[in-house]
Amino acid sequence: MALNDNSCGWVETLPKRNDIRRLQGDLRCEWVVIGAGFAGLAAARRLADLYPQADIVVIEGQRAGEGSAGRNSGFAVDTSPGRVGDDETMKSKALTSYVINMAGLEYLREAVEAYGLQHTWDGNGKFHCAAEPRHAGNLEKFEEILQQLDIPYEWLEGERLNRRLGIPYYHKGIWTKQAALVQPAALIRGLVLHLPENVRLLEETPVEEIEYGDQVRIQCRQGRVTADKAVVATNGLLGEFGLFRGRMMHLTLTASMTRPLNTAERYRIGDPDPWGILSAHRMGATIRYTSDRRIMMRNTAEYWPGLAMSESDLAARRKLHLKAIRARWHMLPELEIEHTWSGVVAVSRNFSSVFAQPAPNVLAVGGFNAGGIARGTGLAKLLVDQYAGVPSAALSEAQKLAPPAILPPRPLLDIGARLNVMRMRAGAGRE
Ligand SMILES: Cc1cc2nc3c(=O)[nH]c(=O)nc-3n(C[C@H](O)[C@H](O)[C@H](O)COP(=O)(O)OP(=O)(O)OC[C@H]3O[C@@H](n4cnc5c(N)ncnc54)[C@H](O)[C@@H]3O)c2cc1C
Repeated sequence: MALNDNSCGWVETLPKRNDIRRLQGDLRCEWVVIGAGFAGLAAARRLADLYPQADIVVIEGQRAGEGSAGRNSGFAVDTSPGRVGDDETMKSKALTSYVINMAGLEYLREAVEAYGLQHTWDGNGKFHCAAEPRHAGNLEKFEEILQQLDIPYEWLEGERLNRRLGIPYYHKGIWTKQAALVQPAALIRGLVLHLPENVRLLEETPVEEIEYGDQVRIQCRQGRVTADKAVVATNGLLGEFGLFRGRMMHLTLTASMTRPLNTAERYRIGDPDPWGILSAHRMGATIRYTSDRRIMMRNTAEYWPGLAMSESDLAARRKLHLKAIRARWHMLPELEIEHTWSGVVAVSRNFSSVFAQPAPNVLAVGGFNAGGIARGTGLAKLLVDQYAGVPSAALSEAQKLAPPAILPPRPLLDIGARLNVMRMRAGAGRE
């Protein structure tokens, strides 16, 4: 499971944990949830809501929430620009995504309020911005979808946009108001520390083998778990559990975070409120100006079969992050980077996700195409609802999802994926 480095800024700025419990010997339980990211924890929480008497065990190979869940850019999205198909297909896919995302946002917001996690959550929406006029067309296309689905948004341009962001870099932006910006590692840690009483979490316990049948038998290095039912929520690694093999691939992303701006620096840029920008171009930079006034820059996405990056790979990416920061905040030439890290996203060819019950006692969820905070939470909760027979409009939308399409075999996949990523990056320009 060599997916991650130990240098993620979101994780490093939190207190160290010393309350890790690992599997020791064998155990039996009613439900086992494998994977403690946003999806696994949402599934566990929903199971505990609906089956308060059940004994639920969550097994996580690393420290919970320190995988992709804690190292992402923290956009819990309501909507994102559509990608495939004609107008009708795009509209219906956008509606499905929106409804699932809103279900996830709502389920997260409930937890934020119930567990006092407001410090991890900023519910003021997100920006989609274009630096070059030639990319503003993507925003206009996005606006059509927002209008058709009656989703609240607002345009910001010129001086008004510059003042809101504190940088004179972007040409045009759309503000969608229902998204939340989160400190992802702090939010997921809050969810971990407030798991319901009937949920036990075992961390640093990688699953090595799984056997499906009337019972699900899981072999870990430290012992064996036997469960009546299982939720497999291991994101892009579902294939290692014999599920949806060859339908998801990983991209490795890198990001950097600066130290907090000091008071003089904050005022030099007009002391804007925190914000988050997603680029109008698919391969453009994702940026946060965080609530503790740091800048987070994520501007690389690569097909990288080794998944995690070495120190020297990260050092090369850090230069790209710094260059992009300097281009936007030229008035802060002394601002330096404190943390640089990599992380993986699971993507599918048709941008769909796994939402499935492959056996009567097995649920599988994963593959959220870089949008798993809201989408992963929503789909995992709805999958448990489907199992328990709890109907909702959101569940009906989730049931429309096609499974992720089959990918070409390697080495064709390696060649195609590399070329595709390079082609898309070439068009990103100043974004
Ligand atoms: C740099 C970066 C930026 C991103 N930005 C955003 C963003 O702004 N907004 C957004 O919504 N998404 C973003 N994403 C994607 C987001 O992080 C994922 O979609 C989300 O974390 C998926 O949640 P998950 O619970 O399915 O998977 P994960 O968080 O990957 O959790 C799966 C867990 O399963 C565990 N696991 C795997 N195999 C085993 C095993 N054999 N035994 C035990 N445990 C196992 C893993 O350790 C992991 O913790 C970003 C990702 C990266 C890397």
